[in-house]
Amino acid sequence: MIQAQIPYGNDELSPILSRETLDYHYGKHHCGYVKTLNSLIVGTRFADLSLEEIIVKSRNVDRKIFNAAAQSFNHDFYWKCLKLSGGRPIGKLKSLMENQFGSFEEFADKYRSFAGDMFGSGWCWLTEENETLSFVNSPNAENPVGTSGRPICVIDLWEHAYYIDYRNDRASYVTKILNECINWEFCNDLVCGQT
Ligand code: MN
Repeated sequence: MIQAQIPYGNDELSPILSRETLDYHYGKHHCGYVKTLNSLIVGTRFADLSLEEIIVKSRNVDRKIFNAAAQSFNHDFYWKCLKLSGGRPIGKLKSLMENQFGSFEEFADKYRSFAGDMFGSGWCWLTEENETLSFVNSPNAENPVGTSGRPICVIDLWEHAYYIDYRNDRASYVTKILNECINWEFCNDLVCGQT
């Protein structure tokens, strides 16, 4: 049985993301994916696996299960990446970022621009492999789980993530999230292999 979880109250990211957005995004969308997943895997060989194992083993085999499992993982990871008053990157992640991009501002410009290239629904990931950071746009439910790049951060680019608060202005949503609402401690722990 996979559980849906969010590590804070639905009003705790306001005003960057409103309570109404989290009521729908977590309460309806995320919980809906987990409910669908549990109903699809009951009694199958996927039933007792972890979310990551289900993703890897279903990706090329059962797209219904893959989509529900990947969306469950993606939302769980997205919530962990968010925090009100997110500040600026710290520790090893800060160093990697400055070595590769020059500054947080230049990093954020690249991330924003990369997210802007995403057509339709999907996710914009920051990944790390051998101390190199990369941006990865994944359409629909797809994600880097089981590939070489380790997920460090993600921004949900589905319309349901921003339409209540930002209407059609996806760029403003991405800018607000990057500048004010990323949990850089969580992301840095991943770079350091501590999570
Ligand atoms: Mn979503």
